[in-house]
Amino acid sequence: MKSLHSQYGHWLLFVRSICVLLLISTSPARSETGNYEFNDAHFHLTNNIQEGPRIRDFLNMMGSKAGRVALFGIPLQQQWSYRVDGNRAPTYYLHSDAPLYYYSFTDAWIAMAYKSLTKEQQARFDPMITGFHPADMYAADHIRRVLQTFPGVFTGIGEFTIHKEFVSAKIPGEVRSLEDPALDRILDFAAEVGLVVLVHCDFDVPFANEGAEPAYLQQIKALFKRHPNATILWAHMGLGRVVPPGDHHAERIEEILRDPDFRHVYVDISWDEVARYIVASPEATKTMADLIARYPDRFLFGTDAAAPADQSKYLRVFQQYEPLWKSLDAETSRKVRLENYERIFDEARRKVRRWETAHAPSASSN
Ligand SMILES: [Zn+2]
Repeated sequence: MKSLHSQYGHWLLFVRSICVLLLISTSPARSETGNYEFNDAHFHLTNNIQEGPRIRDFLNMMGSKAGRVALFGIPLQQQWSYRVDGNRAPTYYLHSDAPLYYYSFTDAWIAMAYKSLTKEQQARFDPMITGFHPADMYAADHIRRVLQTFPGVFTGIGEFTIHKEFVSAKIPGEVRSLEDPALDRILDFAAEVGLVVLVHCDFDVPFANEGAEPAYLQQIKALFKRHPNATILWAHMGLGRVVPPGDHHAERIEEILRDPDFRHVYVDISWDEVARYIVASPEATKTMADLIARYPDRFLFGTDAAAPADQSKYLRVFQQYEPLWKSLDAETSRKVRLENYERIFDEARRKVRRWETAHAPSASSN
């Protein structure tokens, strides 16, 4: 009798654990994005001096508009040099000649902001690690350390920057390079863990000579090709404030998208500067809309807002893109605004959580 009873008990336990497993695997680790207008693949909670809205206030700005947001700070801190700027405390990298420096505490700041939220609120964020120097062979170790210090938090790395107009020259020490083995080490590690990689690299120098070969395009493509197992988002399609698309940008992007060697590469169309190019004329919008329609799974919307003060500022880039949204068919538009984000970041979340479980530091190693 006793053994029958205990067998029955085991059976119940078994059924219960199966139910729990089913619940875990079917209940979305993500929030429902059905009624939101967009997911944001590129958002800075803080600015160049590590200030920004409280995450709860930002949630209110997302409101019913933004479903999920890839969340990060800005790793490059603008120094306030009293010798250079006196009492005029600079808040933006262009507002001072004083240098920028890597501020790794940004990752802890973002992790703690995320951890202050309820589970439901957390499901709307994909925090990203940014506080590393991409020319440092130890950068990958920083990323590993952040994952192990804050398990269950991060989904990707970035936005980190290789070449960017005035920023590159403002960082003391070794200039970042697309051919640096340190960068390969970062991407190898991201691929091993399953982290989404969001990288900013202008495809050309500012004020390039007309007709000249884009300065960085071949190197960027070579880098992407060397890392077929990393999921890479190329921020802003390689464009910048003073790095305009010129006449051939859509063709260049298409060359990448149609090449199976780059099937792991996606482009983010974030930033008001990029939106400005794309909605500059009906022709420019149409060129872009046609390109997106041919590769609807490869484009992601992002705002690139940094420390927005209120909802209207946060939504500005999304609204700026109105002509583009109108030029896409409903299904393509949904993919760019919502679904590509969900697919890519959901997969990354699963992989990173698995890696974290397998690499949990043992209690004694601390
Ligand atoms: Zn950005």
